[in-house]
Amino acid sequence: MVSLLELARDIHLTDPALFPIWDAVQEERRLTLEQGVAVLETDDFAGAGRIADFAKKRVTGDKVYFVLNRHINPTNICVLSCKFCDFAKKPGDEEAYEMSMEEIMSHMDDDIREVHIVGGHHPTWPFQYYVDMVRNIHEKYPNVQVKAFTASEIDYFHRRWKVPPEESLAIFKEAGLESMPGGGAEVFSPRVHKALLPGKANADRWAEIHKTAHRMGINSNCTLLYGHIETFGERIDHLIRLREIQDETGGFLAFIPLEYQVGFTKLRPRHTPPMDDLKMIAAARLMLDNIKYIKAYWVMLGEATASIGLNFGANDLDGTIGKERIAHAALADSPAGRARDRMLNSIRDARRIPVERDALYNELKVYEERVGDSHPS
Ligand code: SF4
Repeated sequence: MVSLLELARDIHLTDPALFPIWDAVQEERRLTLEQGVAVLETDDFAGAGRIADFAKKRVTGDKVYFVLNRHINPTNICVLSCKFCDFAKKPGDEEAYEMSMEEIMSHMDDDIREVHIVGGHHPTWPFQYYVDMVRNIHEKYPNVQVKAFTASEIDYFHRRWKVPPEESLAIFKEAGLESMPGGGAEVFSPRVHKALLPGKANADRWAEIHKTAHRMGINSNCTLLYGHIETFGERIDHLIRLREIQDETGGFLAFIPLEYQVGFTKLRPRHTPPMDDLKMIAAARLMLDNIKYIKAYWVMLGEATASIGLNFGANDLDGTIGKERIAHAALADSPAGRARDRMLNSIRDARRIPVERDALYNELKVYEERVGDSHPS
C-alpha cells in the first residue's frame, strides 16, 4: 500500500492554480471559495484527484465503505413541481403510485442494515402514516437502521399537518428513526431555488431542520444536486455553507454529490461529463475537511465513474439499494440494485479495501482479501 509520504512525493501538477491548493491541503489549511472553483475549472483533473485522494487517505486510509441497504420511495405523488424532477406525479396520473403498508414492508428483509425512505409530498396521506411506516419497520426489523425523510419532507409535515420539526423529529425518533437523508436542498443558491424549486424549503429552512435534528442526536447526510443550471461558484458556496453547519453541529455523516439526471426535464441537453463528476467529488473532499465520508453515488454516476471516483476523494459507494425509483424515473443509466459482490468488485477495481458498514458508519466487516481481483500482478 502506498504511504501518504510516497503519495505526496508522487504528485505532479500541471495547472499552477492547483499549487497553492496542494500547499494548503498538506498544511491542513481550509480552502477558499476561489480555490474550490479552481478545482472544478482545472484541466489537470488527474492532479486535482491526486490531491483529493491524499486528503481522503489522511481520513480513512484505503478503506471504502458500503452498506447492504434498501431504498423505499413510498409514493411519487407530490404537491410540488420542481423543474428538475421526473419522479413526481399528480393524483390521477397513470404513473402515480401509492404504496400500502403491506407493500412497504414487502421491500424489507433481515439481510439489510439500512432502509432509506424518501418520497413525494403527498397531499392527503396523514402524518401518522409516516410514523407507522417507521415504527412498523423498526419493530419488525430491529437490526435495520431507519434513515428517513428529507428536511423538505419534514418542512412539509409542518406546512401540511402543523407538526413542527422539533415535534415530528421527536415522534419519528421515538418510533425508531436513526438518521435523515441529505436531499431536499438541491443547491442553496437563491437564484437556483427561485428558478427550479420555488415551493420547496429554502436553504435557511433546510439548515435549520438539520441543525435541529443534530441537536436531538439524529445524524444526517447532506447533498448537492449539480450539473444543471448552477454555476461553479454556487456549487462551492453550497459546500462552504455545509462546512459551516458542520463546524457548528458535527452532525453530518456523509456528503453526496448528486449528478442531475437529464431524463425528460432536460434542463441541459446532456449529462455533465464524467470529468466534471470526478472534479466535483475532488472539490467536495477538499472543501469539506470536516465531513468524513464523501460518496461516489453509483446510482447516478453509473458504476464505472463511481468506481473511478474512489480515487478522487470518495470513500463511500452507498449501498445495494434494491428498487430505487427517483433517479431511474429520470432514466438513470444504472441497474436498479446491486448485490454485495458487485460492490466489492467496484471497490477492489479501484484498488481500495471494501468495508461493510451500517447506516451510522459502524464497521461490520473489512474485506482485506483480494478475491476475484482482475488486475494483472
Ligand atoms: S423533487 Fe421532491 S418535492 Fe420536488 S417535485 Fe420531486 S418529489 Fe416533489
